[in-house]
Amino acid sequence: MLPFKLIYSDAYYLPIGQHVFPAEKYRRVQQQLIDSSIADLSDFLTPQPASDQDILLVHTPQYVNKLKTGTLSAREELELEIPYSSDLVDAFWLAAGGSILAAEQALKDGVAVNIGGGFHHAFPDHGEGFCMIHDVAVAIRRMQKDGKIARAMTVDCDVHHGNGTAAIFPPSRNAANPLPSAAPGAGIAPAQSSVFTISLHQQNNYPAVKPPSAIDVNLPDGTDDAQYLHWLDNALSSGLRQFTPELICYVAGADPYREDQLGGLALTIDGLKQRDLLVFKVAKARGIPVMVTYAGGYARRVEDTVTIHANTVAAAAEVFAR
Ligand SMILES: [Zn+2]
Repeated sequence: MLPFKLIYSDAYYLPIGQHVFPAEKYRRVQQQLIDSSIADLSDFLTPQPASDQDILLVHTPQYVNKLKTGTLSAREELELEIPYSSDLVDAFWLAAGGSILAAEQALKDGVAVNIGGGFHHAFPDHGEGFCMIHDVAVAIRRMQKDGKIARAMTVDCDVHHGNGTAAIFPPSRNAANPLPSAAPGAGIAPAQSSVFTISLHQQNNYPAVKPPSAIDVNLPDGTDDAQYLHWLDNALSSGLRQFTPELICYVAGADPYREDQLGGLALTIDGLKQRDLLVFKVAKARGIPVMVTYAGGYARRVEDTVTIHANTVAAAAEVFAR
């Protein structure tokens, strides 16, 4: 039995038909965790869907209304890059509920993994890049609303820039290292600077427009394990010098993998596990709880994506073993 919880539901499956996004990966990760004895069924908690009220902590009433009434425009559906259905809406509300539960559990146990979520390309007023609802942002806002935390840090290691995250939580202009691209004098409300965003991503990849995170690490094509771990270590050290979070939201994308169809970095499966270990070790050393979400993963062989995601749980188990 693990010293922390995994959040999972069969209803995480995204009903999107044949798609580069392997919607069956969630079920396969759960199966692999059990088959390989990394976890047993008692380690899993079943989430409830987020409430509309929770979703509205991040998303605009107009966008939520369009989703619930099936009135996205053709252009908005195209931008989402997955086919709209009311079942798909339900799956995203459930993913957000899973991330809320993962955040609550992380605050209790030091770490928790949502075997789903990480939809970091969703904006307050629209979805894009396979992401309808920003489950991580919803979880952060809900924890803040409940008074469980004031400050959170996102550590986004998906191969794609966390554009939705950066737009929802614009960096404070008082940050120690303001980025040249940040609009000078932009008014930032205190609540917005309560979340510090870090994104490590391939520079030459989607999204074309990358709104500034507090720390953006723009990695060149072909970045390998050693280079990636070096940059991640630096980004974590720099972020934690500037900001003291009460919760780290780790977006553990599987797509920095060298065999990924939508990524251009060159990490190995072992390198990705080293990445997970580094994030967990840093968080544990500082006593900061971590909630994990999975985000993308488009390996040519789906089993590689599944292994990379399962390894994230194995890495947490190694670091947080009692
Ligand atoms: Zn991605």
